[in-house]
Amino acid sequence: MSEPFDLVVLGGGIVGVWTALRAHARGLRVAVVEIGPRALSEQRAAQPPLRFRHRENFGATRARNQVLTGNSAFWGGALVRNPASELAGVLGDEASSPMVARIEGRYPEVERQLGIEAPGTTPRVEELDRVEAAVLPGRRRGLWSAYAQRGEARDERLADFPESRIVGLAASGGRVESVTVEGPGGRAEISGRRFLLSMGAVDSNLFAQRFVAAHLPEGVRVEIGRRLHDHWSLPIAKVRWRNGTVLSDLFPPKFARGGIVGRRLAFAQGFFHFVADFDALPPFDRVKSFLSARQRSESVFTLAGKAIACFGRPVLMASAGFHYLRRRELRVPDGAEISLVLDFESDAAPENAIAWEGDGAVLDWDVRPGDAARFVSALSVHGPGLRATLNREGLDFEWLVPENAVGAESYLRAHAVDAYHLGGGLQARAGEGPGGTVAGGAIRGLENVQVCGTAAFARPGPANPVLTLLAMAEDWLGRVSAG
Ligand SMILES: Cc1cc2nc3c(=O)[nH]c(=O)nc-3n(C[C@H](O)[C@H](O)[C@H](O)COP(=O)(O)OP(=O)(O)OC[C@H]3O[C@@H](n4cnc5c(N)ncnc54)[C@H](O)[C@@H]3O)c2cc1C
Repeated sequence: MSEPFDLVVLGGGIVGVWTALRAHARGLRVAVVEIGPRALSEQRAAQPPLRFRHRENFGATRARNQVLTGNSAFWGGALVRNPASELAGVLGDEASSPMVARIEGRYPEVERQLGIEAPGTTPRVEELDRVEAAVLPGRRRGLWSAYAQRGEARDERLADFPESRIVGLAASGGRVESVTVEGPGGRAEISGRRFLLSMGAVDSNLFAQRFVAAHLPEGVRVEIGRRLHDHWSLPIAKVRWRNGTVLSDLFPPKFARGGIVGRRLAFAQGFFHFVADFDALPPFDRVKSFLSARQRSESVFTLAGKAIACFGRPVLMASAGFHYLRRRELRVPDGAEISLVLDFESDAAPENAIAWEGDGAVLDWDVRPGDAARFVSALSVHGPGLRATLNREGLDFEWLVPENAVGAESYLRAHAVDAYHLGGGLQARAGEGPGGTVAGGAIRGLENVQVCGTAAFARPGPANPVLTLLAMAEDWLGRVSAG
């Protein structure tokens, strides 16, 4: 067995690779264990295969990209801070806890590292807060790809083990000592002083059930894989865009401070946002295709082909470019259909659970009564203010959701879409249960294993997760380096 690494990262996705690079920059010697291949072109179906007992969770399938850098070639790049008042609930801690304040304090540093200045929050609109969400440009969303493309070039202090399946974990005295992996080079034992569990929600839970549970107290063990949660996303109104309407307050997104700044109307436990199908409309369809190729670091020839295609519609491109330069806003094309979409937190119901079944796994996921209640409540509280705002802006709109609670519930059952934010299962606090598996990010009973991923969230929180996850990683690294 070789000299222990200072940090062994288990799962080289957005969070794992970020943390590995930041730890390496702080002088730590780091290993990254990744089940997927190094190159996106070699990605295969995720293992173990996942079945759904009731209803498919789209994110659990489509956001489970087993490749070095994980979802970084696929995600949307929206960086949104969880309001301080909600962060405590997400972390399963008291609002007054020092951990909550520390993680909130890390947001600006992470944004700076990503090249985005603080997106900030603008004044209240009615009872909803208008929140500006920074969106990383395509080429920076996949910035972790640069890491994957290092090829076989070895840095003594930053080793990675792609295509490596973890087959064993050795622990003693409440500490993990090593993991055994099988990879292209055969079987290897990788020892470390600290371990970071960052395999995404599905695989972190399955890993904990298979390798970690045996080392935990009974009450903690039974909770692993239960109380999963996500965001439900629903179109609630169709908004008609009238040519020449300027909605400088609400829409459209602006280019600013290194990224696109989108606006959304946030309230506790959810947000409304406007969605135009830019990707289907020229010239944005071609621009999007070019940007996605750049996020995936495709070849210069592919990029050149896609760039040339952008100029196949010179009049539209010139008009969009003019709009951008003059107003620094994204032009909303004539004929674009705009939907007002409600994203709200799904309930962390105990029945939402994942577990091994033979060589595969089963996810028990459905719309639960708590979800319907939350949806109806959000609409009854915020619907009137939202309609008033749309009317004030002079917009024609068609409300899609039935008014009464019964109709709203069936609408949710028919149309609810998961928002790729699946989490829970290792949450900090497990409600009325015997207690969560994670406390302060560390696995209870295994003091040198830190969980960084939505699996450790007690609730999804109103914001998209990545910024909060990176802030958690940054906070943990700060404490590790200081210690
Ligand atoms: C289309 C889409 C759009 C999104 N848009 C946004 C957005 O705009 N903003 C936002 O904040 N979030 C967004 N998300 C969610 C975001 O991508 C995830 O929250 C994020 O990827 C979580 O990072 P992670 O590192 O925990 O997981 P991942 O990025 O999924 O990485 C997990 C890694 O662990 C590896 N792994 C799995 N099992 C094992 C194993 N047994 N052994 C070793 N390694 C293993 C995987 O191969 C993978 O590399 C989006 C997701 C999708 C799919």
